[in-house]
Amino acid sequence: RTGQRLAVRVVRLDDGVVLVVADDRAAALRVEASARDFMANATHELKTPIGAITLLSEAAEQAADDPEAVRRFTGKIQGESARLTQLVTQIVQLSHVQGTQLATLSMVDIDEVVATALDRSRHLAEQRSVSLTTSGARGLSIRGSRDQLITALVNLLHNAIHYSDTKARVVVTTRLVPSPDGDKIAIGVSDNGIGISEEDQRRVFERFYRVDFARSRQTGGTGLGLSIVNEIVEAHGGSITLWSRVGSGSTFTMELPAAPDLEEDA
Ligand code: ADP
Repeated sequence: RTGQRLAVRVVRLDDGVVLVVADDRAAALRVEASARDFMANATHELKTPIGAITLLSEAAEQAADDPEAVRRFTGKIQGESARLTQLVTQIVQLSHVQGTQLATLSMVDIDEVVATALDRSRHLAEQRSVSLTTSGARGLSIRGSRDQLITALVNLLHNAIHYSDTKARVVVTTRLVPSPDGDKIAIGVSDNGIGISEEDQRRVFERFYRVDFARSRQTGGTGLGLSIVNEIVEAHGGSITLWSRVGSGSTFTMELPAAPDLEEDA
């Protein structure tokens, strides 16, 4: 292709056939740079709680004859360990979904995915007095990974609950979107929470990006949740869209290719 740097390797096989293999150098360099950035960010994010745990345990040791201070320091150590666990879990989740092609795995019942994701979010919602409801079409299915789709939906639900005031409403909507190039299934999560400015809407899917660092840290956020959702949706051949207005709320919608109607195929 013109305008691109291609590395060409020529392989001559025994039977005289010559293979010319062209590498897209620019694309390969971009992938390498992004992996390097990710490693640098991940290392930085992991070092913060590790450093805090080291200092807090030294402080606890020095305060050995003050039980109240020791309790305070160990409480903080537990908080930092929980954060470390959350970071490692999300980094592993991200590496599992990155670049995988899940779309042909198995039939996934969307009602069951929604019900399980809601179950896993109910405790948090009750803590914050947020109501969780569903609306829209039922009986939809897609091809893919049930577990990954549950992870994606739980991430969206946790964000919707975390970034809303107490007594907010969070709604999961499922619908079939007919399209000439293949029907889609849309799964939306709407909240009436704090919303996201237009500038930040462009960046929230970036790894480790947080709009309000203090609030994200307070809720145990890592800035990886939405990039995991994005990777899962892409691995299913779908896309994610975001509508939001500051002070009114946000709607994240995953659009995934619908599984073909098997009876119709038959
Ligand atoms: P985090 O772990 O910080 O929640 P995410 O990748 O899940 O990371 O989200 C990135 C940022 O996008 C969050 O820090 C938050 O500022 C913003 N955000 C995500 N979901 C919502 C939402 N429903 N309402 C408002 N802000 C949100």
